[in-house]
Amino acid sequence: MMTTTALFWKTIEDIPGLATDTRDWRRRLGETWKHARPYLTETPRFAEQVNCPMPGGEHCPRRVVKQDDGSIRAVCGDRERLCKSLDLQPKHIRIRELDTDRLRSDIAKAFGINPVARQQRGMIEHLGDYLVRAGVGFPVFFSLAGRRNPIGTSDIFGLDRRGLPFVLMVPALRDVEPSVVAAIHGMDGRVLAFDECMQFARPPGQGFDASMLPSEIFAPEIATLADAEDDPVQPVLDLPVGATWAKLKFAFISEEVINVSYGKQAPVRIEPDLLGMKNQRNGKATRQWRLLLVCAVLDGALPRSFPVQTIRGQPLSAGSIKALDDVKRGYDRQRQHLFAALKSRFGITDLPPFKRTVDCYEAEFVVDASGLRQGVADQRDRNFVEPR
Ligand SMILES: [Zn+2]
Repeated sequence: MMTTTALFWKTIEDIPGLATDTRDWRRRLGETWKHARPYLTETPRFAEQVNCPMPGGEHCPRRVVKQDDGSIRAVCGDRERLCKSLDLQPKHIRIRELDTDRLRSDIAKAFGINPVARQQRGMIEHLGDYLVRAGVGFPVFFSLAGRRNPIGTSDIFGLDRRGLPFVLMVPALRDVEPSVVAAIHGMDGRVLAFDECMQFARPPGQGFDASMLPSEIFAPEIATLADAEDDPVQPVLDLPVGATWAKLKFAFISEEVINVSYGKQAPVRIEPDLLGMKNQRNGKATRQWRLLLVCAVLDGALPRSFPVQTIRGQPLSAGSIKALDDVKRGYDRQRQHLFAALKSRFGITDLPPFKRTVDCYEAEFVVDASGLRQGVADQRDRNFVEPR
């Protein structure tokens, strides 16, 4: 037997555009109507058609006709199918649409999630963060996409997870392909179905009640974050007390290797993995590492924001434009992550690694990109020589 919320979610999945007339909502929702009603906002529109009992006739469905006396009738043009005419009132054919803002905010409330302002309506939206304690939490996403428009793995890879465990909430598990569920698990994420973890609040309560305490529902994510705590990030270099960025030198020797040295200490070879900047899924460097690479290409600078006009007052070279194009998407957020990662990985937490100027962020550490250029030159030489 379906619980009341299960029918609500199923109805939402079934109705294209999340809007239909009041009569249709009531017919589909049955007993659930009284709970769902606050989420179904009246629009100024009225239905022009009303479904037939046996749909599919050539002249079905029933058309809404305004009579001379002001009354409304729904009439089927298909005489042979004998679809009965209906006497209706305006309220029956009033179009109601799902109030997704209210739904969002009530779901967040039910699960103790700190809601974030809605950025844009999308396939998957960031609902908010569940805070384990001040400053420590994980993101919760939700999607009403449903079966008609299934979530793909690319939608998942595009989520801004900030390297944290995460939860994706959907109306029902059937909305997510098993391959996508597997991809989510591989990324420390979990799918949670609304129809299994919450109900409509019992009157006089409003909104939803979670089926368990949020701390129980999110126990796996809370445990993951607690484990991470026991295993703090080890600095990648042994730096003296009071170390400053200015004495650090980052020398790129290839796109995925940096020799990092402090003062006169011997350089340490650093690859993306050591900075937590390797994508565990495809083994490639993350966007934060690529930003570091761009910083090297720009001789120690990163843009303030996009579009980029100048860096240090100079127009951009073709090579810089190309490099920047690669990191344009979600730049601000990635830049913040990079700055935070550098601070924690090098253990210099009281000083910023970059200084803000009029048109860029200037690295406080020394960046040497000559190895990169050498690499490109070697490549060219080889290409020149090899044909023999
Ligand atoms: Zn009909």
